[in-house]
Amino acid sequence: MTLYSKLGLLCAVFLIIFFTHIYTAHTITLLDVLKKNISQQSPHIILSSLTPNQGETLLVRFDDTVRINHIAKVTLTFNEKSTPLRVITIHKRPAILIPFDLNETPGTRILHATFWNRKETHVSFTLAARYKPVYHFNIPTTLGGNTVQAKNTLITTLAKDNLLLSTLPSNPSPYWKDAFRYPTDVPIITDTFGYGRNIVGQVLSHKGVDFRARIGTPIVSIHHGTVIYTGTFRNYGTTVVVDHGGGVQSLYLHLSSIKTPVHTKVKKGDVIGFSGNTGYSFAPHLHLSIKVRGLSIDPIQFIHLWKYLD
Ligand SMILES: [Zn+2]
Repeated sequence: MTLYSKLGLLCAVFLIIFFTHIYTAHTITLLDVLKKNISQQSPHIILSSLTPNQGETLLVRFDDTVRINHIAKVTLTFNEKSTPLRVITIHKRPAILIPFDLNETPGTRILHATFWNRKETHVSFTLAARYKPVYHFNIPTTLGGNTVQAKNTLITTLAKDNLLLSTLPSNPSPYWKDAFRYPTDVPIITDTFGYGRNIVGQVLSHKGVDFRARIGTPIVSIHHGTVIYTGTFRNYGTTVVVDHGGGVQSLYLHLSSIKTPVHTKVKKGDVIGFSGNTGYSFAPHLHLSIKVRGLSIDPIQFIHLWKYLD
């Protein structure tokens, strides 16, 4: 073998060793990356519905492994506008309540979550239009009957009372951690949420649900909370408002009497007052409204929502 042949063979052996090493090193790197990605998949977002209706509340949760301090930011995007969402803790796990106004624009939205470990994930859902029939509705004679003047007084006083109720603050953290309950022991619904009442040409939405309750029926708090308002309104009658924290409040209308003064801490099922026929009411009943971050949402859908916690 000549000197050149020996050098050539040496070069060939060297090149084989060199490329084998590079290949091996490269292969290990790729495997590492793959393994890393598999072990750090983005957490999943769990929605209570992919097609909520106008006037309903969406409950957003995450995988079991996600804690509230893992979440950097959650936004809701619709029509190219992004809104940051507040994350609360329910059952020691992060959760978000998204209330949709009765007249919120339907369509597909994207929920996007960013985590401090730089992972991110998103999910889309579609807000569906709610069926909102309109029925004729009378003004009680005690409030002026079906006249334009009584209608105008109704609209003016409702606006004033709604403004007052919209200023009541909610404790940032929820006082509850499990299912909500009905406000009466025998909940018989006599009027549903979200339909329109044509009152002397003016359509007003029924933003609560009515329960059958003869005068004096004990009315109970739908969950733990603090009584933040008691008083008597022209249209809502004798009213109690309970704050449940986390942006959730319950309003009990047309009562005959109040049992719990403002600042009383109540537990789920505690009696807060007794049903009546006060204010804009044609017969004894209880009107329950539930507000989530200031929006009146469907109370029945809200109460049923909590089955997703178990
Ligand atoms: Zn009602």
